[in-house]
Amino acid sequence: MAETMNLKRLGEFGLVRRISDGIELPGGVAGIGDDCAVLPQKDGLSTLVSTDMLIEGVHFLTGAAPYDLGWKSAAVNLSDIAAMGGTPTGTFLAFALPPGVDTEWTDMFINGYKDVSRQFGVPLLGGDTCSSPDRLSICVTVTGECPSGTEVRRSGAGAGELVCVTGTLGDSAAGLRLLMEEKRPDAAASTLVRKHSRPQPRIPEGIGLRQAGVSAMMDISDGLASDLRHILEASGVGARIRVADIPVSEELRKVCGKYGWDPVRLALEGGEDYELLFTVKAEVEAELTIPHRVIGEITAGYGIVWEGAEGRDFSGYTHF
Ligand code: ADP
Ligand code: MG
Repeated sequence: MAETMNLKRLGEFGLVRRISDGIELPGGVAGIGDDCAVLPQKDGLSTLVSTDMLIEGVHFLTGAAPYDLGWKSAAVNLSDIAAMGGTPTGTFLAFALPPGVDTEWTDMFINGYKDVSRQFGVPLLGGDTCSSPDRLSICVTVTGECPSGTEVRRSGAGAGELVCVTGTLGDSAAGLRLLMEEKRPDAAASTLVRKHSRPQPRIPEGIGLRQAGVSAMMDISDGLASDLRHILEASGVGARIRVADIPVSEELRKVCGKYGWDPVRLALEGGEDYELLFTVKAEVEAELTIPHRVIGEITAGYGIVWEGAEGRDFSGYTHF
């Protein structure tokens, strides 16, 4: 039997590695280790599947607005399909509802869930409904598809390629901090809070980047510092990132200026931006029509060099 270990010592990713030990997969199937599992079908398309939980007190604050929570539950799952460059085809919603939840709450939750799903033409296909003795927990499964063999994995990054991101980073983490510290909202703060409560899955961007031929991709759910490490580990490479080139919104700069927060730490360690992080050959990047920012290069080495923030260490969110 394997040695017993405290989960804090093992860590979230150590636990997933331990779970994945010894699983044999049929040819062509990809399982644990990427944003989605990939199951090739007979018609030349592959089915993509992913599942994500949202737990009260861990992923959202008690009393969170039900519309936003519904939106976010669907959006963060759709984002994992975007991360592979896929087209989402359906979702399944399972939730456990504590006492006190009524139909006003569930209607608003489902409205938020359906509104973001409708944006991408994705139907809710099934799920499960249970009571919970205390906390609210939500689990969504999403399916998608793309031509077999074209899905963009975390493992495809090569030395010399460029590291890029879509959108701006740190907004969601700042939005969460504003909510938690109950800061009085001004226009910039409201934008950041909205980015936190209603993330936008980058579905068309993901499809466009896959079609353009980017080499590795994932969505940023745990923060750039943590998520980039997943691409580097899966690809067996390192990276040099220019901190000054990390895209930060005007709103984030304003709010950080007002409260004395560090925009770099929020951008690198703050999770839940759901932007796409990808690597690409320079000649492919030169032709990209999807808006993005080049933030560094893949190196043949190991680990991340944060140029412009030497001596500082950054880590993202992990459970345990
Ligand atoms: P993401 O942030 O994209 O949702 P995670 O970091 O949560 O991905 O998970 C990394 C990988 O580990 C994924 O391929 C996921 O399917 C797998 N995974 C996580 N938890 C489990 C589990 N309990 N059992 C099997 N696979 C898991
Ligand atoms: Mg992901």
